[in-house]
Amino acid sequence: MIKCPECNTALPKWRDLKLWDRVFCPACGVELEVVEISPFTLESVVDLDWIDEDAEDEIIS
Ligand SMILES: [Zn+2]
Repeated sequence: MIKCPECNTALPKWRDLKLWDRVFCPACGVELEVVEISPFTLESVVDLDWIDEDAEDEIIS
């Protein structure tokens, strides 16, 4: 069972996630990042100014 590190809500099993993919917690809306595949581990993404988001990350369709 995967839980949101922020609100502790049980998360659905996302499929086809790769390392460093990002998803949003459906409960609290925090952005989560896959930091490890085995065991599957999600960490909340802290939006800091020094994180420069590349446009290449916007491929989710
Ligand atoms: Zn959450």
